Parts: sequence; C-alpha cells; structure tokens
Amino acid sequence: MYDYLIIGSGLFGSVCARELTNMGYKCLIIEKRSHIGGNCYTENIDGINVHKYGPHIFHTSNQNIWKYVTSLVDFNHFRYNPKVNYKGTMYSFPINLLTLHQVYGVTTPQDALQKLEDVKLHIESPQNLEEWALSQIGPELYEIFIKGYTTKQWGRSPKELPASIIKRLPIRTTYDDNYYFDKYQGIPVGGYTKIFEKLLTGIDIQLNVDYFSNKEYFDDIANKIIYTGPIDQFYDYKFGKLEYRSLIFEQQKLEVPDYQGVAGVNYTDVDVPYTRIVEHKHFEFGKQPTTIITKEYPSSVGEPYYPVNDLVNNERYKKYKFLMDNETKFIFGGRLAEYKYYDMHQIIGSALKTVNIIKGGKE
Ligand code: UDP
Repeated sequence: MYDYLIIGSGLFGSVCARELTNMGYKCLIIEKRSHIGGNCYTENIDGINVHKYGPHIFHTSNQNIWKYVTSLVDFNHFRYNPKVNYKGTMYSFPINLLTLHQVYGVTTPQDALQKLEDVKLHIESPQNLEEWALSQIGPELYEIFIKGYTTKQWGRSPKELPASIIKRLPIRTTYDDNYYFDKYQGIPVGGYTKIFEKLLTGIDIQLNVDYFSNKEYFDDIANKIIYTGPIDQFYDYKFGKLEYRSLIFEQQKLEVPDYQGVAGVNYTDVDVPYTRIVEHKHFEFGKQPTTIITKEYPSSVGEPYYPVNDLVNNERYKKYKFLMDNETKFIFGGRLAEYKYYDMHQIIGSALKTVNIIKGGKE
C-alpha cells in the first residue's frame, strides 16, 4: 500500500513525488508515456537535446523557485530571442526598437513611441485579441506579427479570442529583445530530462501504464491520489469535452552545422502551414556537425497542449471544478487537471504549495 499514487510524471507530479518522499511518504508514479518528464521531456539525439514537445525555456522572477531548480541541475545563460519570418523577410521579435526600425525606419525610443502613437487605433474598450492588438500596435504590425500566427495557432479568427493570450508578449521601445521579463532565465545543461531523473531518484515509477485501463485497481493501492491528467477524462467527459489546441511536430535531421542561426523562427504568414521552426542545438549553444529542427503544425486533434480558455470551455471547467473541490481522496494539479496555460515555474510553485498544505495537515 502506498501513501500517494501520482498519476503523471510531468513537473507537477514529479515535484510532488520528490517532496512527499522527502517527508517520509511512500509514493508510486504511473506514467502513460514511455518516458518521464511530461511535455518538458528532452531526448538526446546525436548529442543534441531535442525538446520533443515544443521549446521549453525556464524563466521566473521567484528566487525560491530558481533556487529549487538550480539545486537539481545546472542552468545555462540561454535567452529566448526568436525571429519572425514574414513572407521571406526576417524581423527582430518580440516587437522592440529594432523591429520598429525594420518596419518604420525609426531609430530612437522617442520616435518609436511617437510612431506607435500614430499607428495604433483608438479603440476605447477592446473586446477581443484583434481589437486589443490594433489598439496597441496598429494594423501593419498586427498583420506582420500577430494575425497569421494567431489564426493558425488557435484555428480561429483573433476576433474570437481573448486578448489575454497575447498580453504575455512584450512590446518594447528599447533594443531589448528578451522574450520574457523574468529575472532568472535559462535552460538546464544536458536537457530537461535530467531534472526529472534527479527529482525521481529512489521513487517507484511505472512507465507505459494508463491509469484508466485499470482505475479500480489503482484507486485501491494508495491512501491518496494526485491526478495530473485531463480533468474531463477523469470524470468520463460527463459535462462534455474540454477543448485543446494541439501541435504536430515534424522533426528533421539536417546535415548542416546550423540551419537558422537561432533557436526559434516564427512563421507568421497565414499561408505557411507551420507556426515555427525550432532548432534545438541553440538552446545549449551546440557545436555538433549536424542539426535537428522541428516544424510545429497547429492542429485541433492530437495530444492536448493549449487549453482553449474561452467562455464555453471555462464554464464547462467550472462544473468539473465543483466536483474536484469535493473529492477527499484526490488532489488535482498541473496544466491538464486545472485546464490552465501554466508556465513551468508556475507549476513548480503550485506543486510546492500543494505539498505545503499536506505538510500543514500533517503537523
Ligand atoms: N503570437 C503571435 N505571433 C508570434 C508569437 C506569438 O501572434 O510570432 C501570439 C499567438 O497568439 C500565441 C500567443 O502570442 O498563441 C502566445 O505566444 P507564446 O510564444 O507565449 O506561445 P507558446 O510559446 O506558449 O506557444
């Protein structure tokens, strides 16, 4: 008999497993996939750590979380400065003074601010992503950087999407092209899988095991269960399916040392079927003679990656949440169970909070 059964070996499950084990609880993790690490998983191919489920760049402003991850593995000084390819022209991204120079010829922060003032549309209370973007950057920048990418990524018009999706992207009138604002940023040296190997040292884990194929058995082998999978599946879709956007990853090995000179290039033209190309070696400044790239094609079917937090889905989630809040044996956490677009540092924060609550109950 285990104290805790943990379903899923992503960040939420793995951090909980580590902390609960340290507190003296006996834990078992079951994982549906053939590997640990959830979507953070990296696979070493020809010496390159390939981010198998899309690029993961660690960033946080929380010193405790930074201390937590850097106590597990070393991090490098990688900063994410993707470029945009729009109809064959390259642009600096996220939008910054160099981008505004490339589009409008401005050279100073003052001129850039004035230009943005001139081009942005005066929309009093923007009602959707498109209106918000137009009210911040105007039609031309919206067309080049946002419209096509967002339409492809979400499979619908930006008029039907909430502005919250893009508010995380900086718009700057300096030459700072860092994708994030956070104080601490980097990539684990040797790939993300190392973090999980460290977290899960000495903990029982079963790979290729689907909880739902033997739910009754698993429900009986532990006193408490931490579930990190899709919440609609947990409740047998009784209130309907929660919608996700998915990605199809097309990975290629190329016999050149450097394909695109940077980790990420976003293809923002709606006519290009993929949203971005990731070249993995750049996350760790690799010098290998060959390279591996991944094209990301957005898709409405496939593995759940991006929750579609529109009104209909959020209302549906609320119904599931009511049931979740009334469970006594189950604890829920992570992107899939909470139906929320979390970054890695947020997941670690929420896992540590969860174990602290358990700790509080123990004392
Ligand atoms: N986005 C965009 N153009 C870009 C990059 C992002 O319009 O070149 C929008 C798009 O709607 C996307 C959102 O900004 O869904 C958030 O982008 P982010 O890079 O945070 O997405 P992720 O890396 O998590 O896929």
